Amino acid sequence: MFIEVLQLGVQSLFGSNWIDMTEDIVSINSGRCRCGKYRFRVFGEPFWVSYCHCSDCRKATGAPVAVFAGFKSDEVKLFGEKATTYKSIPEVKRLFCSRCGTPIGYQDARLPGEIYYYIGVLEEQSKVVPQLHAWISERLDWLSIADDLPRYQHFSRPR
Ligand SMILES: [Zn+2]
Ligand SMILES: [Zn+2]
Repeated sequence: MFIEVLQLGVQSLFGSNWIDMTEDIVSINSGRCRCGKYRFRVFGEPFWVSYCHCSDCRKATGAPVAVFAGFKSDEVKLFGEKATTYKSIPEVKRLFCSRCGTPIGYQDARLPGEIYYYIGVLEEQSKVVPQLHAWISERLDWLSIADDLPRYQHFSRPR
C-alpha cells in the first residue's frame, strides 16, 4: 500500500521516469523476460531455491536442469504484461512470454500464494543460491553436479 501511494505520488509529480528509482529503493530483486514484455520486482527473499531435474522442466526450459526461486505471490509486483500460460498438468501452470519465448516460471495450484521463477529471468542471479536438488529420479545420467546439497527423488515440497 505504501509503495503504491509512493509511486502514484512520484508519478504525478515527476512523470514515469522516476518510478523505476522508487522501485529500486524498495525491491530486493527484479526480473524480466528477454524482450521485457513481462517484468516484475520482488519485495522479499525467495523462500525456496532449488535445482529441478524433472523432464517437464527440461521441456519448458530446453536446458538439462532448471533452477527456480520460490516467492510469496504477494511479495511480487508485475510491471509489464501478463505472462502467457500453459498447463502441463491440471495443477501446474507454466508461464512464458508469447513474444520472445522466455520460460518465466510456474505456479502450482497445490501451493497457493506462491510463484516460482526460473533464475534466468531474475536480474541478480548470483544472489539466488540453490539449496537442494529436486526430482533426482529424472536427472540426466551424464549431468553431474558436485555439491553436498540435499537431494530429493521427487518433489522437494510436499503437495
Ligand atoms: Zn518477452
Ligand atoms: Zn521440474
